[in-house]
Amino acid sequence: KAKAAGRNTLTFFNPAMAEEMLDRHEIEVDLRKACDDGALELYYQPIIDLKTHEIVTREALMRWHHPTRGMIPPGVFIPIAEQSGLIAAMGNWAIRQACKDAAQWGNEIGVSVNISPLQFREPRRIVETVKDALIASHLGSHRLTLEVTESLLIEDNKSTLAVIDELRALGVRFALDDFGTGYSSLAYLSTYPFAQVKIDQSFTRNVHTNEASKAIIEAVCQLARRLSMNVVVEGIETEQQRIAVQLLGAQRAQGYLFGRPEPLSAFSPDKGRKIA
Ligand code: C2E
Ligand code: MG
Ligand code: MG
Ligand code: MG
Repeated sequence: KAKAAGRNTLTFFNPAMAEEMLDRHEIEVDLRKACDDGALELYYQPIIDLKTHEIVTREALMRWHHPTRGMIPPGVFIPIAEQSGLIAAMGNWAIRQACKDAAQWGNEIGVSVNISPLQFREPRRIVETVKDALIASHLGSHRLTLEVTESLLIEDNKSTLAVIDELRALGVRFALDDFGTGYSSLAYLSTYPFAQVKIDQSFTRNVHTNEASKAIIEAVCQLARRLSMNVVVEGIETEQQRIAVQLLGAQRAQGYLFGRPEPLSAFSPDKGRKIA
């Protein structure tokens, strides 16, 4: 009996899994179509300076409005895009579109684009895409930030550093996203020339009650200052959290309190940089 139970727990195939696999396959087919049809969209969420209350950057966040399933979150479709190889085309489209959009903003607000580690597997392609996007849009290269996660850095690939260096030489900036969630190593901060570190929202959620979260945010802010990097604290939803992270030394923040991700059509880009 125990053996049967044991075997049960190892059962590879069950109806729920079959359904999920079918789902994934269907989503992949639909995603391929969405790419071809131009059915993907970039939403933008402001990153603000806590002192001046000005928007410094807008992060581009990809959205897919599925014809029958409705809005599918990037947490679902990005992994599928990565597994199916679609991510390169999607990611490169995002770079071009974000540069084009930001160039229309009649001010110095920057734009930040998430980059999948898989895009670095084709070093020439990503470098050329960024160059072309900057030229075609006339966006100043200093206004473009590329957000990467620690998962890119654990591979410790020489070509990764070469790509980062080549793009930095153009004036493009790099941000380390979701800091504190993965295999966070302080060594990354000294090895790779990041302009910005984004502290993951998991530390923000309980910042006013959890001493460890406080200590980590404060320490990262101090370290970043010493290394001349900016810090963005992600996921600020309440006034209480805003006050807490500002006291801990954060200069920049992002979160629903300041603005949700919105389609380009929803904000008037020239209305200025001040948030409400
Ligand atoms: P991320 O880069 O860390 O983006 C921040 C995520 O936090 C976004 O989720 C944003 O909507 C959400 N967020 C912002 N403020 C708040 C807040 O106050 N509270 C809460 N609960 N959430 C907040 P989203 O748009 O669902 O994106 C999820 C992830 O998908 C992103 O995390 C990023 O890793 C990935 N992603 C999105 N767009 C792209 C893309 O174009 N390319 C790639 N490779 N990945 C992308
Ligand atoms: Mg990001
Ligand atoms: Mg993040
Ligand atoms: Mg995240």
